[in-house]
Amino acid sequence: MNSNLEIHMFPCRSDNYGFLVHEPQNGLTACIDTPDARVILAELERKGWTLTHIFNTHHHDDHAGGNLDVKRATGCTIIGNGNDAKRIPGIDVTVTDGDSFDFGGHTVQVLETPGHTVGHIVYYIPDQSLAFVGDTLFAMGCGRLFEGSPAQMWDSLSRIRRWPDDTRIYCAHEYTLANGRFALSVDAGNEALKSRMDEVAEKRRNNQPTVPTTMKLERETNPFLRADVPEFVASIGMQGAAPVDVFAETRRRKDDF
Ligand code: ZN
Ligand code: FE
Repeated sequence: MNSNLEIHMFPCRSDNYGFLVHEPQNGLTACIDTPDARVILAELERKGWTLTHIFNTHHHDDHAGGNLDVKRATGCTIIGNGNDAKRIPGIDVTVTDGDSFDFGGHTVQVLETPGHTVGHIVYYIPDQSLAFVGDTLFAMGCGRLFEGSPAQMWDSLSRIRRWPDDTRIYCAHEYTLANGRFALSVDAGNEALKSRMDEVAEKRRNNQPTVPTTMKLERETNPFLRADVPEFVASIGMQGAAPVDVFAETRRRKDDF
């Protein structure tokens, strides 16, 4: 029996989260992205963990900007998308869609999820029911489409949406309150969304994180996962439209919200 992974989460920059994933038996520790090298190194020190890996989700500065400093300080191995290797500083090991690798006895599955950037990947660890989704999926939201098309992002989210209900979703930003306000504007009749918003508002008032979320909660309340759900489609007045068009319109409205 493998030991469970311990997740240590901490705020970084203005609204990012940093994550350390520790496997005690083999003494492995990965950080998910490198939003702030100084903070990550301090958290490692505080936990007494030695960093062995960085799992990068995408090339943006608040995700890969600390790579070289963290690698210099720890000698860790950097894993990232082979199809975006030129934009991932210090990349050592390349992975692509459908790959999996071992992390201390746990299988880590890699999915390419183009949309926010064309080279975005997510990391899914089924035996621990958890996933690190970077800027692809947020609590009640999704990443802005800087590089990919709505069709690409809808496909990416549709694949993520197949994960089991109890999957804990670690997204990279605390955007939940603003996302939820938008979600209410397009899905006002959604009771699950309304009660979730009450909980989220209460948490944020007490300065508590709303991450991780779960796949079940997202399927019920995230407008960007509901482009093919009749109640949602009716709610934004697009009955009969293709899901990809409903998704694109929802994303457009969020950009202007
Ligand atoms: Zn980003
Ligand atoms: Fe980001």
